[in-house]
Amino acid sequence: MAMSHRKTTLTKNSSLRIRNQDLYIGLVRLHVLHHAAEGPIFGLGIIEELGCHGYRLGPGTIYPLLHGMVKRGWLRASAQIVAEKRRRTYAATGAGRRALKVAREKVRQLYEEMFEERS
Ligand SMILES: [Zn+2]
Repeated sequence: MAMSHRKTTLTKNSSLRIRNQDLYIGLVRLHVLHHAAEGPIFGLGIIEELGCHGYRLGPGTIYPLLHGMVKRGWLRASAQIVAEKRRRTYAATGAGRRALKVAREKVRQLYEEMFEERS
């Protein structure tokens, strides 16, 4: 499959960054769901975690994303008190875990196409 002619010249153009963010946002949701299935996550923690993977997303992106995932039934939000501060945590619901299980298979297939079937 030689369908990709790669463009390696990335500019700091902000509209390009927004376009790319659009491309990755599904991966970000899966990443969030993956961690939320392992244990409760919170906004700033997930911003840091995603930062380790090279995603530079701020609260203005992450909180609406988390709320959207709650609305769709993939995450459940609850309030916890941590160091005398009320912190909103998010955990995967049953529906979230089922969605993740299906998505994991899709990621595997994509991964295999992108990295293992190269000739
Ligand atoms: Zn991670």
